Amino acid sequence: MKNIKEVTTALILSSTLAFAGVDAHWDYEKHGPEHWGEFNKICKEGKEQSPINIETENTIQLDQGYSVEIHDDHDSICNIVDNGHAIKITPVDGGYIKLHGKEYKLNQFHFHGMSEHTVDGRRYNAVAHFVHLAKDGMVAVVAVMFEVGEKNEALQNILDNAGKSIHINPKDLMPEDVNHYYHYKGSFTTPPCTEQVQWYILKDTASISQEQLQELRKYYKNNERPVQAINGRKIEAK
Ligand SMILES: [Zn+2]
Repeated sequence: MKNIKEVTTALILSSTLAFAGVDAHWDYEKHGPEHWGEFNKICKEGKEQSPINIETENTIQLDQGYSVEIHDDHDSICNIVDNGHAIKITPVDGGYIKLHGKEYKLNQFHFHGMSEHTVDGRRYNAVAHFVHLAKDGMVAVVAVMFEVGEKNEALQNILDNAGKSIHINPKDLMPEDVNHYYHYKGSFTTPPCTEQVQWYILKDTASISQEQLQELRKYYKNNERPVQAINGRKIEAK
């Protein structure tokens, strides 16, 4: 066993390096979710973190001020990048959503090999997060859950073109019904775990074939943060 002095020195050294950003970058393995607080304190200490488990029985009627209008039906050249954590798609000129009369422009969207939010404890096969940004820096994310079923042509187009720039209409990845969803206030699900993020989790789902799911998970598996404490937050449903 190492003596106390040695252990203390090692701890101080490793935390100094982590804070200096020299030693490591966050990930889902050695520097996984349990360690994210070492990179950004709020990941560990925040009281409004994401994802969460949505208990449908405990949801309340949506406050109409928080209803969202989705205008992502907008074809744009998109850059498809493998960013080390997920496949990220950045539209050159994305659509927008409208919330409280304020516009949030589609900034990027990406996938996780399993859903991060769960609904009554159920984890979906995959999820797409559509990250929208307002001019004042506020963030709203629309989550689309995928269930194994028919092949998804829009998703295939993305999988076939990783690393390239192609025309994509994000609407093609969304389910038919975008008017029913769960809403709550949370955070980014990756460091820096910034809070004040408006989450919209669509109730209707999109389909993904078993083959596509395997392909998606070949790129990225285990890139899901575990569910976080609700801490008395209201979960609204429409
Ligand atoms: Zn995400």
